[in-house]
Amino acid sequence: MAMAQTIGREAPVGSPQARVDAWLERFEAALTARDVETAARMFATESYWRDLVAFTWNIKTVEGREGVADLLHACLDHTAPSGFRVTEPPTEADGVVEAWLEFDTATGRGQGHLRLTDEGAWTLLTALRELKGFEEPRGPRRPQGVEHGVVRGRRSWAEQREREQRELGYQRQPYVVVIGGGQGGIALGARLRQLDVPSLVVERHARPGDSWRTRYKSLCLHDPVWYDHLPYLPFPDNWPVFAPKDKIADWLEMYVRVMEVPYWTRSEVTSASWDERTQQWTVTVDRGEETVVLTPRHLVFATGMSGKPNIPSFPGMDVFEGEQHHSSQHPGPDAYTGRKAVVIGSNNSAHDICAALWEHGADVTMVQRSSTHVVRSESLMEFGLGDLYSERAVAAGITTEKADLTFASLPYRIMPRFQIPIYEKIKERDADFYARLEKVGFQLDWGDDGSGLFMKYLRRGSGYYIDVGASELVAEGKIKLAHGQIDHLTRDSVVLADGTELEADLVVYATGYGSMNGWVADIAGQEMADRVGKCWGLGSGTTKDPGPWEGEQRNMWKPTQQPGLWFHGGNLHQSRHYSLYLALQLKARYEGIPTPVYGLEEVHHPS
Ligand SMILES: Cc1cc2nc3c(=O)[nH]c(=O)nc-3n(C[C@H](O)[C@H](O)[C@H](O)COP(=O)(O)OP(=O)(O)OC[C@H]3O[C@@H](n4cnc5c(N)ncnc54)[C@H](O)[C@@H]3O)c2cc1C
Repeated sequence: MAMAQTIGREAPVGSPQARVDAWLERFEAALTARDVETAARMFATESYWRDLVAFTWNIKTVEGREGVADLLHACLDHTAPSGFRVTEPPTEADGVVEAWLEFDTATGRGQGHLRLTDEGAWTLLTALRELKGFEEPRGPRRPQGVEHGVVRGRRSWAEQREREQRELGYQRQPYVVVIGGGQGGIALGARLRQLDVPSLVVERHARPGDSWRTRYKSLCLHDPVWYDHLPYLPFPDNWPVFAPKDKIADWLEMYVRVMEVPYWTRSEVTSASWDERTQQWTVTVDRGEETVVLTPRHLVFATGMSGKPNIPSFPGMDVFEGEQHHSSQHPGPDAYTGRKAVVIGSNNSAHDICAALWEHGADVTMVQRSSTHVVRSESLMEFGLGDLYSERAVAAGITTEKADLTFASLPYRIMPRFQIPIYEKIKERDADFYARLEKVGFQLDWGDDGSGLFMKYLRRGSGYYIDVGASELVAEGKIKLAHGQIDHLTRDSVVLADGTELEADLVVYATGYGSMNGWVADIAGQEMADRVGKCWGLGSGTTKDPGPWEGEQRNMWKPTQQPGLWFHGGNLHQSRHYSLYLALQLKARYEGIPTPVYGLEEVHHPS
């Protein structure tokens, strides 16, 4: 019984504890009796159940009682949930009781979160944490490291590692190949290793971390340290709030070694094809001096959602005699002192690059083609992230895991409601700042519905600048501003649609990145890319995120329309959190645990 397990004695009638205990008890009784209708009626009319792999073997949010009933009809029997219990005293605010939960399923153990109103459950999160019988060797289960005693022909740890590295991909095939060894591939590789799934991360760069090293030299993370930890190994408490790119690169390189991530460098995946008969991939890897063919069952694209440059095609690019490159190829400002630079675009990269060029004495013009959401880093930290990811949150006992699950507990459908007031507050507090930007003609927006940065990130992954100083230069006219679409380039200038001509020695195309399934097209062919469709976005019907509503990020960390093909990526927070669910899905398949997928999404947008 949930209540007895929770507190050992009855909570006062009507208290948050008593209400949650009673709800859980009735919920579990209905589930045990396979009484789907009763269980569904325990949800409010407006309600959301977000499941991270525990019931659905998918990342899925269902809505309303009908959605709950549908999920349960499909998943209840094989999930066989039990043992729902709260893990700490529930709290109440504004008529909503919140509780942290644990529960069991037939195959695993889960954590959850419940928001309860007078009408019933408003939101429920269920998240698989581990598979029974396949718990990670951590804490009390940590490996011994040495076998005490006398063992003839004993191999040292280093010898075993060397042998493993030598054999993997040659004598022994990995079950999973992860294409791309940025932070995404690395975090997933670490989790798969902990779960003992034979896997291999394949990276074309020379060193782990190079995807950061090769970016423009002024780049520092825009997200703060509390948001950025990798799984298992948090940053030390002297780590800077905003890590410079080369420092994060070094951390990733160290992490690969310490976490023993199976990792090939200087290895580029050049093609991959799926064999329907053997249910295997044939993956060709160019390792410089040799070509190796791998035959994994699963292929994960961790090639970066900010990795495939959108390089525009403007008339006259072929006649322009200066230097021109995409922001991802921008080397930094040093060579451009005293030169005229035109940066096309007005989001994060454009601002960072303009500011660094200005610092080095270049004459800089930013071309704003459409409005941009700008939010000062300080304000974002205070109002947007501070409750969950900050020194203040740490002091309040909010662990990274709890912060991640709190964030995950808010279904995307209602997240804007929680975000809009944050940005209203920011708009008010930084009114002067915004007024100064508008005065010089900078076009601002707050997202289609005023929900600001996170929603823009989740919906389209673009369209914003977290201000770390460049906006001041724009407001002061030190970074000059031009507006409109590009008509063409001449030998030495950029000409805008309204005829404005901007002289240029350097043109930087800060024009963003394409959908991750573009990588699939390159490696596995257009047909395969179309089969799985566009990645990222929620189907919100807002700018650059066409509907229909999907409720979860398209194709990320969950089964796709192509068996054995997965996507992993996103910022450091997402990479940390969602790598667990992807790793558990792969582990279950590796161990032959049935994984019936509920609610596999159809493809609405090929790219
Ligand atoms: C300017 C800029 C600033 C950013 N700031 C932040 C920030 O502050 N915080 C944050 O969390 N995120 C930030 N991001 C987003 C950032 O891109 C991601 O967080 C991070 O790089 C994603 O990691 P990833 O592993 O998914 O992709 P990537 O780091 O892009 O790694 C993908 C890897 O795949 C490799 N690869 C690609 N194709 C192949 C192939 N065929 N074979 C072998 N290897 C291949 C690439 O070499 C690369 O190393 C920023 C991005 C940019 C562009």
